[in-house]
Amino acid sequence: MKGSIPESGRGVMIEESKLDTFHEECGVFGVYGHPEAANLVYLGLYALQHRGQESAGIVSSNGKALIAHRGMGLVADIFNSEVLERLEGTTAIGHNRYSTTGSTSLSLKNCQPLVVEYANGGLALAHNGNLVNFQELRDRLEARGSIFQSSSDSELIIHLIAGSRAPALLDRVAEALAQVRGAYSTAILTEHCMIAARDPHGFRPLVIGKLNNAIIVASETCALDLVRAEYVREIEPGEIVVIDDDGIRSFRPFAPAAAKRCIFEYVYFARPDSFHFGRNVYQVRKTHGRALARECPAEADLVVPVPDSGNAAALGFAEESGLPFEMALVRSHYIGRTFIEPRQSIRHFGVKIKFNPVAELLRGKRIVLIEDSIVRGTTLRKVIPMLRQAGAREVHMRIAAPPTTGSCFYGIDTPTREELVASSMSLDEIRKYITADSLAYLSVEGLYSFMGGRREGFCDACFTGDYPVEIPRDQSPHQLHLFDAADGMNGAGSRR
Ligand code: AMP
Repeated sequence: MKGSIPESGRGVMIEESKLDTFHEECGVFGVYGHPEAANLVYLGLYALQHRGQESAGIVSSNGKALIAHRGMGLVADIFNSEVLERLEGTTAIGHNRYSTTGSTSLSLKNCQPLVVEYANGGLALAHNGNLVNFQELRDRLEARGSIFQSSSDSELIIHLIAGSRAPALLDRVAEALAQVRGAYSTAILTEHCMIAARDPHGFRPLVIGKLNNAIIVASETCALDLVRAEYVREIEPGEIVVIDDDGIRSFRPFAPAAAKRCIFEYVYFARPDSFHFGRNVYQVRKTHGRALARECPAEADLVVPVPDSGNAAALGFAEESGLPFEMALVRSHYIGRTFIEPRQSIRHFGVKIKFNPVAELLRGKRIVLIEDSIVRGTTLRKVIPMLRQAGAREVHMRIAAPPTTGSCFYGIDTPTREELVASSMSLDEIRKYITADSLAYLSVEGLYSFMGGRREGFCDACFTGDYPVEIPRDQSPHQLHLFDAADGMNGAGSRR
């Protein structure tokens, strides 16, 4: 590689003393063939902000060169009209990156889209997902003299493309992607074309849209809605789509594999207004709430969600149980997601400033409190006493997913297995820890009630321990092969 493309501004490298963990959640958005490509990508990133708040970037092509602007923080803080004007051209890709659990350093070096100049010109890449054989491939390339600029696994794909001897870009991309294992939904940009690709299991989402003659790729359809683009279809697992002046061409260079779309996108991660993996997220969440009401009813007066993550499931629970629904816990929307704060002390503070109960609704009432998941238990350990202080007589906790017992290696930021309460505590220990009167989780069968109970087509490793792509042992020895520790938990039926 010859070097990196200069940033249009803020091009400061922040030194980093050790590698980040490789757990990233991200949003990807790309536009081909629109006079306001960078502006549209900016809007797209706004709609995808929930998928990543650590950094964002846009790279555009004016047909001769790539122009990049990336920065730390939220989309609204990184771009302004001057910056967007400099991002000229009719094609652009953008990326939002999530904070990494356990990472002590935030680095501009890891901001995406990654952008380089190599023997065949400029190349930019925006990647959502984790590559599980990252270390093995990186060691191999470094042994041959490759120099990496970031600790991001996404840079590996760039190196593999640049190192390919194949004459055509598509073949170079296919050759590179054939070597990586794990999860990628990616948009690649050169001066003259945009390529979008999804790994053979299709862990992370990626869709195609159309805006007049322009082609759009996006992690979620909510981003298409914002720019008034029409949804065309999902990019299929294992598909590579090349978009250039000849139109769209689709290729399937990899051996077919079973689809393993991430079920946690439905549980928590995707926006409820998105049409995701062929279904509306909000409606799927409601089915989780309904199934939860059938499986684990509670003697109570009121159904209350932990907003916003429990909202749709709580509505489903209320409809199914016939209990009244009240937004008796109010969330401030101006503090960001507390989960992303790296230090436990800050997280505790975050929960306090995030929620406030409505005492008038709670006084003397028995509450069914609905949340999508428990990770470390930090949120509920603060929220439940808050509800009691506001007058709630009983708090019955219902979780609209099975216990989260395993880390994700395919692109959802989960803490190590030891930090997940459901991996080390029994159901009753968790109940005591969060101070609830009762606690129950949705079963794996209930999670798939929207599929008539069938599990095919999804990855649910964080709930079941069934990891579809093997994780090299050295990547996380303490997190694997331990999936029997949470026995006795409601809804843990198919855990190995
Ligand atoms: P905790 O307080 O540690 O138990 O975390 C649970 C809260 O974090 C719930 O409100 C979930 O909706 C939310 N959550 C679950 N998984 C994630 C994730 N991967 N990233 C951010 N938030 C999450």
